[in-house]
Amino acid sequence: MNRFMITLQVILIGMQMPAQSSLEVVGLCIAAPDPEGVSDFIHFIEEELAPQGINTLILRVDYKYAYQSHPELRDQKTLSKADVKALVATCQKLGIQLIPQVNLLGHQSWSSTLGNLLKVYPQFDETPEIAIPKDYVWPNEDGLYCKSYCPLHPDVHSVVFDIVDEIVEVFESGAFHAGMDEVFYIAEDQCPRCSGKDPAALFAGEVNKIQDHLSKREVDLWIWGDRMIEGDTTGIGMWEASTNHTYPSINLISKDVVICDWHYEVAHPTSLYFARKGYDVISCSWRNAAVAERQVKMMYHNRQRHEDPPGDRFKGVMHTVWSSAEVFIEQYREAEHSIDTSSQSQINCFTTIVKTVASLKPKDNR
Ligand SMILES: [Zn+2]
Repeated sequence: MNRFMITLQVILIGMQMPAQSSLEVVGLCIAAPDPEGVSDFIHFIEEELAPQGINTLILRVDYKYAYQSHPELRDQKTLSKADVKALVATCQKLGIQLIPQVNLLGHQSWSSTLGNLLKVYPQFDETPEIAIPKDYVWPNEDGLYCKSYCPLHPDVHSVVFDIVDEIVEVFESGAFHAGMDEVFYIAEDQCPRCSGKDPAALFAGEVNKIQDHLSKREVDLWIWGDRMIEGDTTGIGMWEASTNHTYPSINLISKDVVICDWHYEVAHPTSLYFARKGYDVISCSWRNAAVAERQVKMMYHNRQRHEDPPGDRFKGVMHTVWSSAEVFIEQYREAEHSIDTSSQSQINCFTTIVKTVASLKPKDNR
């Protein structure tokens, strides 16, 4: 090929490059509010989240809903159907995609509290021999961070899929977030069903089972991505990546699953890894504003790709809040709202994301 042809090809490729497009997802993931806080939360959506450009809201509900299918699993304080419908109406009016989250597989306990599923159905526990201590400390001899349910228990899905179906229906949602992060207990030796099995195959099998179930309702499955990243040689470690051999699941999980790729200390370029494997991906932050700003810039940069992988797999960014909704709203209302990448604050991180997204948004889409 002569120089003229090479130049022409470069020009043609340049013409095919899509313009830098707006992010499809500018999200917030937060715990569902208490029932008495729903009206204030709705005001917060109307007065702050929508005007700031948030277009996706994940509410971590778990068992904080008055489930009809399994009332035995309800928290003491629950959102009513009317509470949820008020949230749904607000988000629909403002063009916000509202997505419920219920943790499946992992996170079936927290600190010294056993989650409702294993409290009511102890037979689903992957590690029934490990007791929840009164005074929880990490690290501990049992390697107990959170309990898991056994993905091969023959009865577990008839319960959790009832929960999934009911929450998806009441939220009128086109997507469901199943959590599935930090699953440390999987393929345990003492489990008569899982012992000796491949952790990656077990993890992928559970994700795909949930995906198959949701696809019949035309609902997308979103999960956290940490179990699909190799944590040792990458240096990313056991939290934001996997050191318990689940990472080959990236080659086994349906490409229809949307990956929420969370990194809180360093803006690892793993969104590119997920996109190259064929997944739609969203970069997630917490309280490090410099990391969040870098994630937003990487997302915009990668969306300019036209091949290997195509830019439309880079869906956007999402801020994750790990305090209660009420505490976040209170902190937000008291805070100065400016970009400060030197800070370690969930509020400043949130502000940095929305302001950086707005500053990089193409002018014709403002
Ligand atoms: Zn098992």
